[in-house]
Order: sequence, then C-alpha cells, then structure tokens
Amino acid sequence: MEKEKMKLVITSGKGGVGKSMLTSALAMLFTKKQKVVAVDCDVDAPNLAIWLGEPENWEKTLPVTTSAKPEIDYEKCNGCGLCVKNCRFEALRLTPQGKPELNPFLCEGCGACEVICPQKAIKLNPVQNGEIRTKRTKYSFPLISGQLYPGETGSGKVVAEIKKEAEKLINESSFAKASEDAVMLIDSAPGTGCPVIASLQDSNFAILVTEPTPSGFTDLKRVLEVVNHFRIPYGIVINKWDIYKDLSQKIEKWAGSKFLGKISYDKRIFKAIANLTPIMETRLKAKTEIQGIYQKLIKILNF
Ligand code: SF4
Ligand code: SF4
Repeated sequence: MEKEKMKLVITSGKGGVGKSMLTSALAMLFTKKQKVVAVDCDVDAPNLAIWLGEPENWEKTLPVTTSAKPEIDYEKCNGCGLCVKNCRFEALRLTPQGKPELNPFLCEGCGACEVICPQKAIKLNPVQNGEIRTKRTKYSFPLISGQLYPGETGSGKVVAEIKKEAEKLINESSFAKASEDAVMLIDSAPGTGCPVIASLQDSNFAILVTEPTPSGFTDLKRVLEVVNHFRIPYGIVINKWDIYKDLSQKIEKWAGSKFLGKISYDKRIFKAIANLTPIMETRLKAKTEIQGIYQKLIKILNF
C-alpha cells in the first residue's frame, strides 16, 4: 500500500456512531510520527473541530459555489407560466399577479426554467452556498472543514473542493517533506450518498464505524457495499460495543480479519466533549481502546 500520502476515510452507515470522535483521536495519534491533515467532509453537520476542542478561530475561509439559482427579469416576463410547469422540483409558482416566484429552498439549480423561457427572462446565477475553513490546530496539524449552508444542495461538490484544498496542504513543501509520510484523515458524512462517495474516491483505506444495534449493523453492510464498489481496503470498529454485547460479538465475528477494535460506551465522553476536551486528553477507557485500534491500523498500513 502506497503510504507516502495516505488517505484514510472514517465513515459509517448511520450518524452518531462516533466517526468524528475516532477521527480526532487518530489525527492526534498519527501526528506523533506522520504529517497529518484532518479533513471534515461531513459538510451538512461538521463537528470534527469540536472533537478536537477547537471550534472557533478559523484562520481562512473560502467561499464555495456548487449551484446556481434563477434570476427573473420581470420586465421581460409575460407570465406564460412555462417555467412553472416545467420545474420538476416545484420551486416556482405563479403569483396571483401572474408572475413566477422562486422558492430558493426547493430550487436545485437544474437550469430547465432558463432553457424553456421563450422571453429569455430567466438567467441562472452562481450562488455561494457553502464555505471551507482552515486552521492549524494546537496539535500542530492543519484542520480543514467544509460547511454547506442549510437547505443547500451539492454536498458532493463541496467534499471534492475540500479534498482539493487538503491536497494542496499536504503537497506544501514546508508541510510534507519528501522523507516523511503524510496522512489525510477524512471524517466522512454517514450513509451512502454523494458526500460519502466523494469522500471515498481516491482513498487508500476506509475505517467503518458502527454501533451494535440492528439498524447500525444493517447500515454498516450498506456502506460496505459502496466501499467494496471502490475496492478500498477497510477495517471495522464497533463503538459503544457494550450496549448490546451479543450483537457486538456477532458483528465482530462477521467482520473477521477486518475487525480493528471496539470502544466502550461511556457517558463521560460526552461530558468531556461538552468541555471541549479531546478524548485523547482524558483518562477514559475509550482513549486506551482507540490507542489499540491505532496500533492495529499502523501494522495494517505498514507505518
Ligand atoms: S417562462 Fe419566462 S416568460 Fe414565461 S412565466 Fe416564466 S419567466 Fe415569465
Ligand atoms: S433552476 Fe430548475 S429547480 Fe430551479 S427553479 Fe429553475 S427549473 Fe426549477
């Protein structure tokens, strides 16, 4: 496995199973020996900065444009209603005054209204619907985080943009010297949608996090299908393993050689994060368990 610039994706079939916790902890462990870039690609609900205890003080913010919205020239519009009829997202309606009105939250920016308008009264304009923020953390590695604004679409494109920025950082001569290995730790969105696919693309290894619940296990199998589609080597981690020990054992057995380790449920983890204390700065059992996962991982990745 090429390890000079390793891209590790931490993903899951469902949300709330501990991806960001694990990503933050692994970033802090890898940074002791490798160059690390932590990348939050869960653009609808980014929280890696919180798990690193540093949600504020971003150094740079870049605007992101993933779609366009129509602008209607009411001088030219004759109220024919063709745009309304042909918007399959029902983002346009005719007002009582007979003019089209846009609901920007329903608009997908497909451009059909612009094409169909006989009066050339509609023009699609790019809109800023997200941003990418970067900073250097107090643990010396940089963090890149993307945010898609509420109600906006195009999360896959935002992820692609974040990864480009992360790539630039990892290629910076001052950052990744030729003799040192670099690890990009990508905290993916949960599920199997566009942002997950965009996160997994070109990655070298995927860590699939699950919890021992029937829905957690089912969703794990679904996201595994995507990982297998891209033929990405992977490992499996069970978080909160002790909330349902029988199912946890079943998942562990099912995972076989892909099993990386398990993390105990502990309410104090949430207390720590509420105080912005990263898990690796606590004395909780989860810290030791994650260290065990890291040890197994570096053997597999040949670090
Ligand atoms: S298609 Fe064009 S002219 Fe017809 S209602 Fe829409 S904007 Fe107005
Ligand atoms: S761009 Fe597409 S979704 Fe948006 S209003 Fe026009 S037809 Fe509807």
